[in-house]
Amino acid sequence: MFNKILIANRGEIACRVIQTAHRLGIRCVAVYSEADRHARHVAMADEAFLLGPAPSSESYLRADKIIEVAKASGAQAIHPGYGFLSENTDFAKACEANDIVFIGPPASAIASMGSKSAAKAIMQDAGVPLVPGYHGDDQSPDLLRAEAEKCGFPLLLKAVAGGGGKGMRVVEAMSEFDEALAAAQREAKNAFGNPGMLIEKYLTQPRHVEIQVFCDSQGNGVYLAERDCSVQRRHQKVLEEAPAPGLSEETRKAMGEAAVRAAQAIDYVGAGTVEFLYDVDGSFYFMEMNTRLQVEHPVTEMITGQDLVEWQLRVANGEALPLQQDQIRLRGHALEARIYAEDPDNDFLPATGTLRYLRTPDENTHVRVDTGVVEGDEVSIHYDPMIAKLVVWDDNRERAINRMVQALEEYRISGVKTNIRFLHALADSAPFREEDLDTGFIGKHEDLLF
Ligand code: ADP
Repeated sequence: MFNKILIANRGEIACRVIQTAHRLGIRCVAVYSEADRHARHVAMADEAFLLGPAPSSESYLRADKIIEVAKASGAQAIHPGYGFLSENTDFAKACEANDIVFIGPPASAIASMGSKSAAKAIMQDAGVPLVPGYHGDDQSPDLLRAEAEKCGFPLLLKAVAGGGGKGMRVVEAMSEFDEALAAAQREAKNAFGNPGMLIEKYLTQPRHVEIQVFCDSQGNGVYLAERDCSVQRRHQKVLEEAPAPGLSEETRKAMGEAAVRAAQAIDYVGAGTVEFLYDVDGSFYFMEMNTRLQVEHPVTEMITGQDLVEWQLRVANGEALPLQQDQIRLRGHALEARIYAEDPDNDFLPATGTLRYLRTPDENTHVRVDTGVVEGDEVSIHYDPMIAKLVVWDDNRERAINRMVQALEEYRISGVKTNIRFLHALADSAPFREEDLDTGFIGKHEDLLF
């Protein structure tokens, strides 16, 4: 195993990686920005190096400096966490060029999934079901119009380079198409420097169900069941759970096998997530593959009893997967709530301030808090406003929901506005308890939640 690794990230995920690395006897090098001098991840690490000023572009995105620090400190591998450089092919290549192991998939696999349209073409060839629509290179307005006609309405325009729900437009009828196309292209060009669009049939009440896959460098691939991330706001996940309520064993197997096929089609290595839209009739369609550890990985850890960061480290070290498919067992039900610094009275815009008082629920086998902050810390405008992930586990969904509701009641934060009350209303609502899930959940039940 590695003696020393560098964690090219901050916040809860940096702390999460350090925790597992330390348990395995691996020393950890942290990097930080001027705003994070006293951050929890810096305090937890064995060594820490300043990268630069607070803005990410001058600190956590400085691939050159991070590689320099890795070399100077003797780190053998770099864990990129999620976000920042985790899906940056140039960074993965730079690690390799400097004889540092990138704890993630090969650069070629990241590149294959970097474009939603190229990814769909690869998946089609691998026999993975796709949302019907158009994902070609030809972007002439006439052709897109003809493809829209063929696809039917409502349809969804999506940026091929998209992420974070940007560059997406639902189009209800042909009469709205030209205007929506121009707006979506403009948004995509601004956000990603690429106006390319794909067209998808817009499923009206789908669920977001994603499969956790893992592959080693010896050709083995497994799936660790699924997560249901249907509870979203502005196409962003709010509450996640595993397993997906009501998913049959048969569908789980079909989705899992399709996801492993998808990963193997691009010679994947490491942790990955294949996202599907799941329709009420049991059909499912490939949406995209994320080539990193996801924010919501803890719910999978809770129901499988596995440590996915340990799996990542072992696989990056050239070892075989710790378990084979038939050794992966599911137990109970897990939920994760993303606790954000945001203002519920102001359209959930990110909030900032000092965490004057912070009390987290007691952690035990049922309750886990993944966080990168302590009392007194500042929540700044510079980074993602997530304060913590509250994760609970119990024998069944109902009991897990009760745990979540109780843990949210115990969570106390003052000094910064948060979404805790909203999460509580959500988890405790009748439709959530009754598994009335689809991606329109929050919009449909606004009267109960606000
Ligand atoms: P991004 O990468 O920008 O997050 P995704 O492709 O992952 O975009 O989609 C984000 C969310 O948008 C999904 O979780 C789902 O709720 C919704 N969505 C995406 N494609 C469709 C579709 N074809 N029909 C209905 N909803 C969709």
